[in-house]
Amino acid sequence: MQDIKHKMAINHIDIEERIQRACDQASRNRKDIELIAVSKRQDPERIQKSLENGVRCFGENQVQEALARWQPIKALYPDLCLHLIGSLQSNKAADAVSLFDVIHTIDREKIAKVISLEMKKQNKQLPCFIQVNTGYESQKSGIEPRFAADFVKLCMNDYALPIVGFMCIPPANEDASPHFAFLNKLASKAGLKLLSMGMSADFEDAIRLGSTHIRVGSALFGDRTS
Ligand SMILES: *Cc1c(COP(=O)(O)O)cnc(C)c1O
Repeated sequence: MQDIKHKMAINHIDIEERIQRACDQASRNRKDIELIAVSKRQDPERIQKSLENGVRCFGENQVQEALARWQPIKALYPDLCLHLIGSLQSNKAADAVSLFDVIHTIDREKIAKVISLEMKKQNKQLPCFIQVNTGYESQKSGIEPRFAADFVKLCMNDYALPIVGFMCIPPANEDASPHFAFLNKLASKAGLKLLSMGMSADFEDAIRLGSTHIRVGSALFGDRTS
């Protein structure tokens, strides 16, 4: 049986090499890209070994699952950085603001409002991304691209949210690159600097197209348990 800690380290080195290569090809600096290790629905042992290997930046898509996993060990790793990358319900806003360090999924006014209230209450200012539904998919969360710039203004002016960038999840079974290019254009228009885009299958394209936050799960940890 292969040692899990070793396997996690090898995967990480492989991803790092691919990130560096994509940066070189795009004449970008590795330091301008954050690698978020997406730990949702992964075996706790894989996460533990990654922590031991020095990984500190993780992404989760479910507030309850993330709380159960991270709350007990958060104090042991003061430099941990947790990113919420899944859609938010208003009744989870308090837990989300207390656990996470960055929120990628502000996608409607109601959520902007409750997150803003919670941040005031907890005296926190978490950097937030707005999720944009670049594929106009009815089942997917995210603001429609044509409303994105106005929604940025609403979030910043009416709710004082620290909006730092846009996030997207391109439609499955489609070339992601046009979506990445589109999101990049939308962000420039809205005056935003950061882009949360790119997953295991397409993070190199995302880097080429300006991503600053790549969210990589299965390529780092292996297949999820469900
Ligand atoms: C699960 C998930 C990822 C990671 O997906 P992989 O294909 O395993 O890299 C990235 N972003 C979001 C929003 C996710 O839900």
